[in-house]
Amino acid sequence: MTHLECSLCNRKYEAGKTWNLCECGGPLLVRYDLGKLRSAWSRDSLVSAPDNMWRYAPALPVTHETSIITLGEGMTPLLHAARTGERIGASDLLIKDEGLNPTGSFKARGLSCAVSMCVELGLKRLAIPSAGNAASALAAYAAAAGLEANIFMPQDVPQSNFIECKAYGAKVTLVDGLISDCGRIVAERRQAEGWFEISTLKEPYRIEGKKTMGYEVAEQLGWELPHAIFYPTGGGVGMIGMWKAFAEMEALGWIGPERPKMIAVQASGCQPVVQAFEEGAERSQFWKDASTVASGLRVPKPLGDFLILQAVRESGGTAIAISDDELIDAGIQLATEEGIFVAPEGAACVAAAEKLIRSGFLKNDDRIVIYNTGSGLKYLEAYATRFPRTASGETDKLGGLITPR
Ligand SMILES: *Cc1c(COP(=O)(O)O)cnc(C)c1O
Ligand SMILES: [Zn+2]
Repeated sequence: MTHLECSLCNRKYEAGKTWNLCECGGPLLVRYDLGKLRSAWSRDSLVSAPDNMWRYAPALPVTHETSIITLGEGMTPLLHAARTGERIGASDLLIKDEGLNPTGSFKARGLSCAVSMCVELGLKRLAIPSAGNAASALAAYAAAAGLEANIFMPQDVPQSNFIECKAYGAKVTLVDGLISDCGRIVAERRQAEGWFEISTLKEPYRIEGKKTMGYEVAEQLGWELPHAIFYPTGGGVGMIGMWKAFAEMEALGWIGPERPKMIAVQASGCQPVVQAFEEGAERSQFWKDASTVASGLRVPKPLGDFLILQAVRESGGTAIAISDDELIDAGIQLATEEGIFVAPEGAACVAAAEKLIRSGFLKNDDRIVIYNTGSGLKYLEAYATRFPRTASGETDKLGGLITPR
């Protein structure tokens, strides 16, 4: 790592110091001496690298190996979904199953990197506003590092997230509001409390952890990127991160200039990026009354909206919204067909892929990678609505309720 650079005004910031946003309000991106790295690091050397995301450590910001806090995140399976693919007309459909990460979501990647950097920079009291999974991941990695985690989340977050955070020993405050309200509270109290704020993109290292999804998909596909990537977009960190990873890998000489179509998938009840994309706008507008069971997508105004929209447009991708009913249907159908129980966010991508193949936006033989960002097990309340335990009239029959005599 050489320095940080503002994604809006290009102002540079010194490495080895604590930063949040640029003076201008823009998110900071980590920069490396890729020319030097190119001669020191080859993709072939990965054969003997650790079996987690830290295999890409030369392109991550941590300088001392002893700072690394890992729970085994990354190197998740890339699974061929043949039956679902056949049904929706996609002969090469792959699911990157991020639900197998520690804490059951890909947030583990971002928080492993962010918490490791807190260790390196000597930060001890951490705070985060979260729609759910980022809180669980911060709580776990802070516990692993022996640091304090202060968590603010909407009171209606999935039960799994609340219980996990408590079990990991975090200080949890439930907020009668949205993640944007949680963000405001953390920003207001941070100085007086001496907290370091780990909000999405206000902290520059979560994106570095999440970008490893880009390195990994390239490595798992033999350094040939797919035709399209479906990404469930809330704050868009993974999308921005992967786009950055592709540029870095090209500078390292690991891949060519081809890029996948980046497809931002949102929920109908909260689709600021889709709206901005359709209007041709550079920034999104605050989505009022945001509501969806896909809690990771309930981000009414992503801070990095312009970076998401850049990646989508430069790649020739698109943005699409899926209703809660459609995405829960798609999740159950995928589980039945493939044995993969995905988070509603991942399920939205399956429904989106079906639509974009039907519309002709994608070809039947395109290689498609869907990011399932979390495990369905974290969203039992959302799926439970489809499976009442005692459906009336189903007593005493197989698949219903039986009373033993
Ligand atoms: C946070 C989250 C998302 C959205 O991730 P971003 O990178 O912020 O867009 C999607 N799915 C799940 C399961 C999440 O927890
Ligand atoms: Zn700036």
